Amino acid sequence: NVGLQEADKTVDSTCPYCGVGCLIKYHVKDNKILYTEGRDGYTNHFRLCVKGRYGFNYIHNPLRLTKPLIRREGVPKSTELLDPNDLDKEFREATWEEALDFAANGLKKIRDEKGKKALAGLGSAKGSNEEAYLFQKLVRIGFGSNNVDHCTRLCHASSVVALLECLGSGAVSNPVSDVAQAEVIIIIGSNPTVNHPVGATFMKNAAKRGTKIILMDPNRTAIAKYASHVLQFRPDTDVALLNGIMHTILAENLQNDAYIKQYTEGFDQMRTHLRNYSPEKVAPICGIDAETIKEVARLYATSKGSMILWGMGVSQHIHGTDNARCLIALALMTGQIGRPGTGLHPLRGQNNVQGASDVGLIPMVYPDYESVEDPKFRAKYEKLWNTELDPKRGLTTVEMIHAILDGEVFGMYIEGENPAMSDPNQNHARKALASLEHLVVQDIFLTETAGFADVILPASAFYEKTGTFSNTDRRVQMGRQAVNPPGEAKQDLWIIQEIAKRLGCDWNYQGPEDVFNEMRQAMTSIAGMTWERLENEDSLTYPLENVGDPGQPIIFTDGFPTATGRGRFVPADFIHADELPDNEYPLIFITGRQLEHWHTGSMTRHSPTLDAIEPDPVVSLHPLDLEKLGVEPGGFITVESRRGKLSAYARAELGIQKGTLFMAFCYNEASSNLVTNDALDPAAKIPEFKFCAVKAYAGGTP
Ligand code: SF4
Repeated sequence: NVGLQEADKTVDSTCPYCGVGCLIKYHVKDNKILYTEGRDGYTNHFRLCVKGRYGFNYIHNPLRLTKPLIRREGVPKSTELLDPNDLDKEFREATWEEALDFAANGLKKIRDEKGKKALAGLGSAKGSNEEAYLFQKLVRIGFGSNNVDHCTRLCHASSVVALLECLGSGAVSNPVSDVAQAEVIIIIGSNPTVNHPVGATFMKNAAKRGTKIILMDPNRTAIAKYASHVLQFRPDTDVALLNGIMHTILAENLQNDAYIKQYTEGFDQMRTHLRNYSPEKVAPICGIDAETIKEVARLYATSKGSMILWGMGVSQHIHGTDNARCLIALALMTGQIGRPGTGLHPLRGQNNVQGASDVGLIPMVYPDYESVEDPKFRAKYEKLWNTELDPKRGLTTVEMIHAILDGEVFGMYIEGENPAMSDPNQNHARKALASLEHLVVQDIFLTETAGFADVILPASAFYEKTGTFSNTDRRVQMGRQAVNPPGEAKQDLWIIQEIAKRLGCDWNYQGPEDVFNEMRQAMTSIAGMTWERLENEDSLTYPLENVGDPGQPIIFTDGFPTATGRGRFVPADFIHADELPDNEYPLIFITGRQLEHWHTGSMTRHSPTLDAIEPDPVVSLHPLDLEKLGVEPGGFITVESRRGKLSAYARAELGIQKGTLFMAFCYNEASSNLVTNDALDPAAKIPEFKFCAVKAYAGGTP
């Protein structure tokens, strides 16, 4: 029992997993983390979930990459995943010097011979702000294009597009902990007990004190136990339901006219648009009766403080941006924003997906969401970085995959992302990765993506480096190094800089503080945030423009950072999902996460503790659907779509809506993304992970 050993030292840091960003104390002995404790602070008040408390031990897994690897000459790439037992057949060890030269020369050759847009880069939302900033800077200068993206494209890109369009800022308005001051909380398309467990404790505590929780979700998730209303609507009908709620508010004159007049624009157009969406009309579409829609509308509009929190059930649709536009309109028409216990909170997934987006790891914007196509901002960065920049937006994550197969992208640098598991329509994505002329992968394990690489650079885990991380509340927190990387693995900041130097960038950052100070010059939002203060205070919330400012946990208190200073109503019409069930594929397949596992599983499936709790791929469905298939719980079922199939253990769950199946995307032996649809939301380019048509039948083996 390592917990009984005495530690050499303790390190105050944060959690490497979800966007809640819990504060953690790590107890360390002989370069090993023995155990953890929650610390006190806004985000968690000593609480931790199973991942934060026990999920650190993946870093001590003997399968960690400890030496640079280069693909053996003449060994062709397969479109199948690499069997780890064949690693030595396909790759050989190399020195860092050789591997870095090989990595950079391959990229340079493609850039110089095929053009700047023939390269693309994927950075990581699990890295620090400083790493994400340097990575996007490397692509923009070293590659010479804006072909840089990260996993925000697969999670909240649509929320960010809608927030920027309607409110002028892509982040949350109020922190999660503000639910304590709300009278009504709408939780929509989010399963916080599983995905933001400590955040969910704030919601549960609020409910115990009398706050009404309105849960809107196709599945009756665990937080339903604390809800006053559960609206288990049909999986692709969010817009119809939300328009029905807004119709009621206007029909019953419950809108906040003074707020609309002072702070918004486009209301008349919205009012006209909503005439078509009476609760009676939308009820048969979304499967929620008209009276319930009206009751929920009254509750939300008339409470002293109503707050909306949402997850990827809202964002991962071809109408994800429309879904978010509706939530924003709901808050604007009722004035339920800009005060404690109100507002809009898209719950961010990874521990630094907020920060990676803020610092410009996105193909259409520089740091602070400044458009790459706006000459004013381009001139600003050309001056700051002393270079010429591409005036056109770059490719998004899924567009990169298409561009490879279309013969437009030939080389990629992938740092800490795993598209061979995370992208939709995996057979297509893996074929694309295998056909790259040159792929550089920087990671801590031989991920499924690393198997397609030409060179693999062994990197550092969260606990092996220092940097800043921005949580879902816009709170910038200090992650501190607790142990050293294993073997010859290096810190990511060093690796990025070494590749950049070989691509012609004259950089000499001495460490994360140097990078952070440059970020402060670029980004007004953190201009007043000092490294010293972060060291002393652990965390600060932006906007924090002047040194000494306290930071702003609640924004939009007096208007919006849009061109007119007003929040904008953007009407949305109901459309169905891209691929509807039919006779051949009669069921709906929805993907998401499990409590014990994390995204593509590259961390948690290497944690002996977490993997022991959930060791096998599982598909959940309603017990009656299971009975119809003739399968006992725990038996095998095969799920098949037009794009691929998988087999997994069947789990009966009463909360799953009949006619739908749910699966986490962390299992490489049965990747849910073999089945998913790569249709994209037109505005945000986010894929429709939350809906595709499948058939299911008994049998198969994972
Ligand atoms: Fe980590 Fe999120 Fe769990 Fe907190 S709630 S311990 S941040 S995974």
